[in-house]
Amino acid sequence: MTKVQQIIHRSKKSLQSAYVLAELPTPNEARAPAPPVSDTITSLDVVTGSPEETEALAARLAGRLRAGDVVAVSGELGAGKTTFVRGAARALGVREPVSSPTFTIGHRYDAPVPVAHLDLYRLAGIDPEEWGDLEPYFDGTVAFVEWPEHGGEWLPEARATVTLNHVDESHRQVRIDSEDDLGL
Ligand code: ADP
Ligand code: MG
Repeated sequence: MTKVQQIIHRSKKSLQSAYVLAELPTPNEARAPAPPVSDTITSLDVVTGSPEETEALAARLAGRLRAGDVVAVSGELGAGKTTFVRGAARALGVREPVSSPTFTIGHRYDAPVPVAHLDLYRLAGIDPEEWGDLEPYFDGTVAFVEWPEHGGEWLPEARATVTLNHVDESHRQVRIDSEDDLGL
């Protein structure tokens, strides 16, 4: 380094520390793109080690839900969607056995706030007539929807979305997102 280069180097360094002292963004930071703004307030990501743990987590979410809420439950076959809904339904006071509605589209269970459980797996897409059949499930219930992706634009906006993924035979990654602070 020549003398001149050294001086330039030193003055650049002191300029840098001046920015730091003044708690200003350095020019590089100032130019960096702003971090993405997320409106997701609840974002919970846990690994459960048994179906019972998944049910218990679902029960925690259930405690934050109210009539009219829709919960979208996504994940591949066997990921634990129905298990999750079962735990939530129990916590909401459903006494009947909660099983997969794969062959019926939906169940509606009596409880202090009725619980609906839909599985849209077999729907390729919803047309207005089909929506007419589905709409009552959302009326005054807390509604859980498996395969919400198949409902397209028709589904009411979900208050919370749950995404389950296989980790291994007994472990599942469970993500719960909501634009509300659910206090989970
Ligand atoms: P889906 O509705 O996503 O097809 P199910 O809930 O019907 O899935 O089935 C999940 C299967 O995985 C059940 O047999 C359940 O006992 C098993 N399992 C094993 N570990 C877990 C776990 N940690 N959470 C949820 N289910 C689990
Ligand atoms: Mg299922």
